[in-house]
Amino acid sequence: MDDKIRVTLVNYTRKPLETVTWAALISYWEGWETGAFERMSWKDVESHLPKVLGYGHESILEHATLTFAIEGCSRVCSHQLVRHRLASYTQQSQRYIKLNPSDVEETFVIPESVKGKPGLYQKWKDFMKNAMELYEESYKAGVHQEDARFILPQGVRTKIVVTMNLRELKHFLGLRACERAQWEIREVAWKMLKEIAKNEELRPIIKWAKLGPRCIQLGYCPEGELMPKGCWKRTREKWKALAGSKPEV
Ligand SMILES: Cc1cc2nc3c(=O)[nH]c(=O)nc-3n(C[C@H](O)[C@H](O)[C@H](O)COP(=O)(O)OP(=O)(O)OC[C@H]3O[C@@H](n4cnc5c(N)ncnc54)[C@H](O)[C@@H]3O)c2cc1C
Repeated sequence: MDDKIRVTLVNYTRKPLETVTWAALISYWEGWETGAFERMSWKDVESHLPKVLGYGHESILEHATLTFAIEGCSRVCSHQLVRHRLASYTQQSQRYIKLNPSDVEETFVIPESVKGKPGLYQKWKDFMKNAMELYEESYKAGVHQEDARFILPQGVRTKIVVTMNLRELKHFLGLRACERAQWEIREVAWKMLKEIAKNEELRPIIKWAKLGPRCIQLGYCPEGELMPKGCWKRTREKWKALAGSKPEV
């Protein structure tokens, strides 16, 4: 866990689950009309949405989008994130923004596996401090920050805004909330899920659309023998705690 990695749900489609349900109803409700949108009640949502999603009609999830701010993750992580193509991204520029050297841990993500080895950890911090100093020295020597940044390790922290519709978010979480995913992007994925769980208007969709790792979505682990030991039980418990009543976050 890196508490400097922050994920915030900053905005989403107004009346998200009503929007998705209303869109679904056009296909089988003769009385459907534009004006029905504002009349949609929560009862309508509860009686139609889980059922339609249960049929596997997931394209309706594309009608609601969510925008997250992700701050303090590394460029290692943001590079994995932007591989998900059906989403929109805007990232802090290393061309326009000059890094201000501060504490090594404020500037770079260092994995726990390294922190657990004191001698090695110190070498990493020294190396990163040197990289920052060389970045600063280059800048002062007249090298623009867009070139000075080449010296920075991939662990350098960044900020990125991501907008995904609920269908792509489900796909993303399927791959990245899984224990087989790399730890940092997995941490980001679970933090996104927690943000949804904290939100009364959105929380039910976690259960109805099975937003979570693929074992939750499919009911089995598609990676079979590659599954980490104990993962099945751990993941189900973690997910159930989030999807159920208001979780402790
Ligand atoms: C555990 C793990 C290990 C990985 N290791 C590597 C690695 O070693 N090297 C590497 O390069 N990547 C790696 N990746 C990244 C992976 O290959 C994908 O690029 C990334 O997960 C994005 O997923 P995606 O392409 O399914 O989905 P998205 O880009 O999120 O797209 C969603 C879905 O839309 C459809 N889609 C999107 N674009 C197209 C298209 N052009 N044509 C047809 N259908 C499309 C597909 O159905 C796709 O699944 C890894 C990912 C994971 C989770």
